[in-house]
This record gives sequence, C-alpha cells and structure tokens, in this order.
Amino acid sequence: MLNKICIYCGSSSGAQTDYKSAAENLAEILIANNMTLIYGGASIGIMGKIADAVLQQGGKVIGVIPQSLVDLEVAHYGLSELRIVKSMHERKSQMADLADGFIAMPGGLGTLEELFEVMTWAQLGFHEKPCGLLNINHYYDGLIEFLNHSVNEGFVRSFHRDMLLVDKSAEILLDKMRRYKPVKVDKWIEYNET
Ligand code: AMP
Repeated sequence: MLNKICIYCGSSSGAQTDYKSAAENLAEILIANNMTLIYGGASIGIMGKIADAVLQQGGKVIGVIPQSLVDLEVAHYGLSELRIVKSMHERKSQMADLADGFIAMPGGLGTLEELFEVMTWAQLGFHEKPCGLLNINHYYDGLIEFLNHSVNEGFVRSFHRDMLLVDKSAEILLDKMRRYKPVKVDKWIEYNET
C-alpha cells in the first residue's frame, strides 16, 4: 500500500511556472488518495510549494532536515511534523524508511542524488519500494536518454533501468507505482548479459 510518498524536488523554483503548477497538482492527487507527504522539510523552491499545497488542503506533511540546513534552506515550521536530524545521511535514511514509495519531481543535484540513492538501494535489494520520475515539461528527457545509453553501453542492466517508473502525469505515475513488482535477481553480481 502506498500511504506515505517521499517527494524529492528542487530547493529552487525552476525557470517556468509549470513546475510550481505540477507541485500543486501532485499535492491535490496526494490528498485525493489520502497520502502523507514525506520530504526534506524546506520552505523554499518546489519543496516549499508542494508542502504548502498539501497543508492548505488539510493534508499531512512530515519534513526531515539536518540541523546544518535548518537556516540555509529555511526549515518549514508549519508542517504536521518537522524532524531535525544530525546529518544528511540521517535525513535520507529517515525519509527512505518512512516512505512507501519515492517520486522525483524536477530538481537539481540534490534531487538527482536522492533519487539515485534510492534507485541503487533498490538495485541492491535493500528495499522493494517503487521509484517514480515525474517528467514535467520534458525536464528529465535527457536523463532518460542517458540511462538508455548506460544500458546500451553495458553499465546498467535493462531491468534495473526499468525499475524507474516514468510519466508526465502524476496520476498515471502513481498508478504505475501501485502496480510495481520489485526486480528479483539472485546473485545479480554474477549475472552476465553478454
Ligand atoms: P536541489 O535539487 O539541489 O535543489 O536540492 C533538493 C534537496 O536535496 C535539498 O533539500 C538539498 O538539501 C538536498 N541535497 C542537496 N545536496 C544533497 C546531497 N549531496 N545529498 C542529498 N541531498 C542533497
């Protein structure tokens, strides 16, 4: 069951208003599905937008932020719950433990790092939770192309690339996440695709 969704997204707002609208739209869908938002606890950028939108509609938001970023990212003090933790590692592991699935919206280096961390944990079988990419405005087209290139060049297995569920519609993405079947590859390290 997908009850708590972790959203990774930009601490910036992005160059186009579509990103803000997408955050508001995703918030509506989370509310409609009775889902709790887990995120990085900041009040700025797309992060702040989605938290505000969920809260305005009476939803539940849990933010997890390291002490060192409380001032830098302007911690959001209006959340249902704000967890101030010691380190970035603790932040990411709490967010991952709390959530039933992950969605990356458009964002920067932090968003990419967080998405790829949970992807690599899935690849290693450390968790079986679905990972989604909300491809607003073709923002992630280049990344998707690069992942295909990594498969073609023999560095990523196709079934590991396919773990990343992609859609431009939040509703369809959530539907794909609900139907996600974790990849089970025994002894995958010895697996040879050549
Ligand atoms: P960004 O996508 O770069 O705007 O950052 C989005 C979120 O990711 C912010 O809460 C950042 O604190 C966080 N972040 C930035 N760098 C990292 C990193 N190296 N590892 C994990 N999270 C990060």
